[in-house]
Amino acid sequence: MDRPAPPVTRFAPSPNGRLHLGHALSAIVAHDLARAGGGRFLLRIEDIDGPRSRPELADDFRRDLEWLGLEWEEVRAQSTRLTSYAAAAEALKAKGLLYPCTCTRKEIEEAGAVEGSDGLIYPGTCKHRPPDPLRPAAWRLDSAKALAATGPLVWEDALAGPQAVDLSLLGDVVLVRKDLPASYHLAVTLDDAADGVTLVTRGADLFAASHVHRTLQALLGLPVPRWHHHPLLLGEDGEKLAKRRGSPALTERREAGEDGRMLAEQLRVQLLSLGT
Ligand code: GLU
Ligand code: ZN
Repeated sequence: MDRPAPPVTRFAPSPNGRLHLGHALSAIVAHDLARAGGGRFLLRIEDIDGPRSRPELADDFRRDLEWLGLEWEEVRAQSTRLTSYAAAAEALKAKGLLYPCTCTRKEIEEAGAVEGSDGLIYPGTCKHRPPDPLRPAAWRLDSAKALAATGPLVWEDALAGPQAVDLSLLGDVVLVRKDLPASYHLAVTLDDAADGVTLVTRGADLFAASHVHRTLQALLGLPVPRWHHHPLLLGEDGEKLAKRRGSPALTERREAGEDGRMLAEQLRVQLLSLGT
């Protein structure tokens, strides 16, 4: 029997806040899956989030990962890749798959947008009106046209099994932000392809995003990885641990002298109990 190719995984934190236990778990999942399959574990700093990005945090991230006992190969940060994002956006525009959207968040709320898997689903206001050249525009994926162009698609989650692409979960997402040549969806899809990532690991809170990413891979002719969305650590109150107020950042725990490798071992035990 053919042995599966060694996986390439990655941890892709955004330096707009410190790392918490949820991040540690994500990094450990990616690291351990790569090691178990004799593959590679990459670190990519997702630093394009403009004013909220604090480059100095990336150094803390590296120290935190080292403290957890992880080893990685670091690949280029997102801020060095802006031209590749712009080129992909142009290719999608040339195919007529994007449309400009000048709506503000308030306008989207007022247009009666419904809550989707990840925030409001865009109600399509700008899809059928000429853009106002005086207002800054984001560019959205026309999900109906995208579906027509790709036909039915499937992606594979290691835990949840095969998934039929359903773009209605997130609607017409932004691919080019008003202030940046990419959104999370476009940047992460291009970067994972450019870095040769073959197993995308991240928390189950980003599960729905993979429907969009699979579609972008088809539209842009990119290789298709497998995914592994791990369950989230929940606090006793059932809230996401990473977001819980007062849960200390990894940096604080490290600086307080806690043993990071021991913490990593505890998280591995918790992962088993979460059923991965
Ligand atoms: N920068 C993203 C985050 O920190 C990465 C998510 C992903 O792994 O795709 O949420
Ligand atoms: Zn709009």
